[in-house]
Amino acid sequence: MTGKKSKPCVFCKGTMSLQTKVDTATFAGHTRDVDVLGYWCDSCDEAVIVKEGAKALSLAYSELKAEVQSVLGPAAIKGIRERLGLSQRKAGELLGGGPRSFQKYESGDIASSVSMARLLELLDNVPEAKSYFFGKMQQKDSEAPPAPESHH
Ligand SMILES: [Zn+2]
Repeated sequence: MTGKKSKPCVFCKGTMSLQTKVDTATFAGHTRDVDVLGYWCDSCDEAVIVKEGAKALSLAYSELKAEVQSVLGPAAIKGIRERLGLSQRKAGELLGGGPRSFQKYESGDIASSVSMARLLELLDNVPEAKSYFFGKMQQKDSEAPPAPESHH
């Protein structure tokens, strides 16, 4: 980015300049400070948030919400997925939710379910669970014929 950008405030007679300021994400009475890039007014407290700033705010909101609801936030999900050695697409295919689900969890677009959070925590913390799960997946991949139908 080059130079300092500014424009007249849309709320008062002041000047808004492009800068990062600390704003607060709130969820259910909990708050979290977040650096937000936007056109912040020098005279009033209003701002026109730019795309990156909005993204930072929504990410912070998702993290906060996950913490309050005790599910996993975007950063925690990304960390576990990377430790499991899975791409976003592969993780969605193997763990459920579909090929784009992890992209959405990690960008804060959607929150993980409680069951997804527990599954990831389990795989991350219990080596036996991880080897059982991935062993099963490998079996499934190499399994050529479908299981025969049982007649009762
Ligand atoms: Zn203003």
